Amino acid sequence: MFPVTEGYMMEKTSTTFERTLVTSALPYANGYIHLGHIAGAYLPADIYVRYLRFRGVKTLYVGGSDEHGVPITLTALKEKISPKEVIDRYHTANADAFRKLGISYDIYGRTSWPLHVDTTQQFFKVLDEGGYIHTKEMELWYSPQLERFLPDRYVKGVCPKCGYVEADGDECESCGSQYAAHELVEPRANIPGDTSSPILRKSRHWFLDLPKFGEPLNAWLDGHPEWRANVKGIAYGWANDLRSRCITRDTDWGVPIPLEDEDAVGKRIYVWFDAPIGYVTNTRQWALDTMNDEHGWEVWWKDAGTRMVHFIGKDNVPFHAVIFPAMSMGQPDYILADQVVGNEYLNIFNRQTGQSEKGSKSRGNMISVRWALENLPVDAIRYYLCAIAPESKDSDFDWDEFMNRYNGELCNVVGNFVHRCLTMTVKNFEGCVPPAGSLEDADQEMLDAISQQLEAIAESLEEFRFRQALERFIDLGRKANVYFDAMKPWVTRKTDMERTGTSLYVCCQVVKALCYAMVPFMPEGAANLAAILNLTLPENGPEGGEDAWVEAKTLLPAGSSLQTPTALFPKIDKDRIAELAEAHLRGEAF
Ligand SMILES: [Zn+2]
Repeated sequence: MFPVTEGYMMEKTSTTFERTLVTSALPYANGYIHLGHIAGAYLPADIYVRYLRFRGVKTLYVGGSDEHGVPITLTALKEKISPKEVIDRYHTANADAFRKLGISYDIYGRTSWPLHVDTTQQFFKVLDEGGYIHTKEMELWYSPQLERFLPDRYVKGVCPKCGYVEADGDECESCGSQYAAHELVEPRANIPGDTSSPILRKSRHWFLDLPKFGEPLNAWLDGHPEWRANVKGIAYGWANDLRSRCITRDTDWGVPIPLEDEDAVGKRIYVWFDAPIGYVTNTRQWALDTMNDEHGWEVWWKDAGTRMVHFIGKDNVPFHAVIFPAMSMGQPDYILADQVVGNEYLNIFNRQTGQSEKGSKSRGNMISVRWALENLPVDAIRYYLCAIAPESKDSDFDWDEFMNRYNGELCNVVGNFVHRCLTMTVKNFEGCVPPAGSLEDADQEMLDAISQQLEAIAESLEEFRFRQALERFIDLGRKANVYFDAMKPWVTRKTDMERTGTSLYVCCQVVKALCYAMVPFMPEGAANLAAILNLTLPENGPEGGEDAWVEAKTLLPAGSSLQTPTALFPKIDKDRIAELAEAHLRGEAF
């Protein structure tokens, strides 16, 4: 009954499967996304899907806003607006930020869509009919003044474990403890105007019986020894200590419980249950929008030929490697993820204190995507965040390092080589790729290095090692600079035009390979370079297409015309970086 799929295959790659469904965690529509989010769940996913599409793999990339839950209704109460106004504001802003950063979703949906009520209720009903949901009476805080229950953050108090005074109703932000509501010490309502003292009152709720999934969950996890150690560690920790989880709340903001039960009145399905189902809803909506096909989503979710890959921050591992898989095991025919790529956190390096610190709203040290895009080129942001991606441990956003990596690597190594090669070619060979004369060993070695580096980059991307893939891309530029400096075309052009033509012919081949290899990482730079080379980069959609990575290795014919080159990656001035770093320190980067 449980669709535990085939085991681990050592040689598994993107082409082992017929198609790939990629998801990024749905950001919560209660705040603006920041660079920490991007480094964790969005940029790696986007690099991966751009790579897959370029290889012609049938790929669907699904994202969207997570729009239910108590924090949204709290914001609405505090700002005296409706929850709808809160989610509209953040959904619109975040969708726009993703688009400008080049995060190339096939659909960016919303869990407030009516279609999502249907998907979520179906999940709930099937689990209920399968005997995986039960009810239990709980003692919860209740406001006598407002005559309503106070779920989650609606009640604050003193943490029973550590004494933190701003603890939420069921968990403590300070020590990370979770506890039953009645354990909270000195509870107080966290609603403007409510001055009454909360009292405990009984309420019947619905629970997902996670222990029933213990065996298949462990079998599925055992089938994936290739996952990152951090993801496996958290997932096994949960899978070996499964408890029933409450999946309903006393609130009117969320998906209604699809049962004829008087206790279901005034309650909604809890946000952590409905959020991952958003991936399914958004796939359904995508199939309706693009094909007008009610069943078009099913092949992505119910066909064993689909590989599903989740990209998330590590706080989301329990939901993607334990809870959502359990929920999916309780449905007929649903596939499970083949990879859960969980990243650690991007912290902030504080230049004043010389310390690394967590990004937090109260510290005002976070950098919003919106601010970053107003002040930095999109490729510079993508380059740096990939270069320092927190893949196996936390990393720091550091302005000095930003300057050194972007200026020193992308501009100096790749941009500079491309510019030198193309300028000299255009000037000396009438704007065309020169013909190759007889190839010397150094020429052949450089040409061979193109294929080798392209394969090495692909290998890293297949293994979800994005930092390494980017290093290998820069390495190709380094090799090209060494070759260019050894060939000295600016010297040989005075004595030997044929030799000069041959070395620039070889250099133009490297430029073409760099252009193709750049596509997943820096799409804007790739498009600009392709225009200079008069090349049309293939753009494959979810239906797949030709493998452009193979095409990247084919040679640019002699005589191909070139446009006058412009600087692909303009250097950012040191003073400008200092200005931005100062603004960041002043808390203006959000
Ligand atoms: Zn605590």
